[in-house]
Amino acid sequence: LEAKEEFPHKTLATDVMRPRQSDPPLSVLTQSGMSVEEVERLIADTTYSGFPVVISQQSQRLVGFVLRRDLVISLENARRHQEGVVSVSAVLFTECGPPASPSAPPAVKLHNILDLSPFTVTVHTPMEIVVDIFRKLGLRQCLVIQNGRLLGIITKKDILKHMAQMANRDPESILFN
Ligand code: ADP
Repeated sequence: LEAKEEFPHKTLATDVMRPRQSDPPLSVLTQSGMSVEEVERLIADTTYSGFPVVISQQSQRLVGFVLRRDLVISLENARRHQEGVVSVSAVLFTECGPPASPSAPPAVKLHNILDLSPFTVTVHTPMEIVVDIFRKLGLRQCLVIQNGRLLGIITKKDILKHMAQMANRDPESILFN
């Protein structure tokens, strides 16, 4: 995102964020309640660079953001080096998990790889501001929230694609470029 590129359009975060209406829903992790196997399946079934972590599927309240590569490394490490970890072991992003039953296999604690304050905007935030913040903070992605619920994600590539589309569509920008 070059600083020289202007973003003069009236677009809002909601116009650029994913998923689109026709897309599958956002792939999220819950802070507790998922097993090692379930998280591994999500990783295998998707190629996203990261996953928002929410309190629960029902609330969609944002807790943080975890990078795919950190997740992969931590799960591999736990499988290899943490005693007793199996497919049905719980994965916990909370600092202290819910009380586990004494017979449950040990949980994999991943609080340490969770970014607890990922950058967020609302659906109404003008893209002009989003682009400015991406540049200034060197962001790779930001999350889009409405009324406390996680609705979507915007990556740097999403913004670049959107800028290219706008440049093609807007007759003025074609005339003056
Ligand atoms: P990039 O945009 O650099 O290719 P990703 O591979 O992470 O980065 O994302 C690919 C596309 O999927 C983007 O359009 C992005 O908005 C979207 N996306 C990213 N993460 C998720 C996710 N966890 N769930 C659903 N869509 C996502």
